[in-house]
Amino acid sequence: MNAPSRHCIFCDLIQGAAEVSVCYEDDRAMAFMDIQPVNLGHALVAPKQHFESLSDIPRDLAMHLFDVAMTLSPVIQRASGCSDMNIVVNSGHQAGQNVFHYHVHLIPRRADDNFEIALPFEGSSMPDRTFLDAMAARIIAGLRDPARQAHGRSARAVAG
Ligand code: 5GP
Ligand code: ZN
Repeated sequence: MNAPSRHCIFCDLIQGAAEVSVCYEDDRAMAFMDIQPVNLGHALVAPKQHFESLSDIPRDLAMHLFDVAMTLSPVIQRASGCSDMNIVVNSGHQAGQNVFHYHVHLIPRRADDNFEIALPFEGSSMPDRTFLDAMAARIIAGLRDPARQAHGRSARAVAG
């Protein structure tokens, strides 16, 4: 078992040590209602085993959680009466992760809910095509040779 480095509320509720409203369970995953939903129906799909984020969760488990999310999505849409949905993973502090037990958000959306994942981001600009091409090339190189990419220049340096 991958033990959390600090107390984990999601481990508690997965192990039955805290109150939770479960809407799906199998041998590797559990889905439950978010305690502070954007809209009623907002659910979290989490692994039963503790992993913190995208950087440590095994690929096949992450794929399984997404598969569960895809199964739940239309059911939650019907149950919540929302036709639209955001599927979100916040991985790491800078990405807004607050609970460091990996989870996938299923967020049913209403026209007037005022929740925003607004893209394109208002504070961003459109980089010169050369920067986009350079980043694409860097990613292609990384796919071919991950070790070389790890020792290459940072993304910030490539973007100028
Ligand atoms: P994150 O910011 O880590 O992506 O999202 C954490 C989510 O977990 C938030 O939406 C928050 O409302 C939810 N959450 C935090 N504590 C609890 C809890 O004790 N029980 C449940 N069901 N959800 C929680
Ligand atoms: Zn945990």
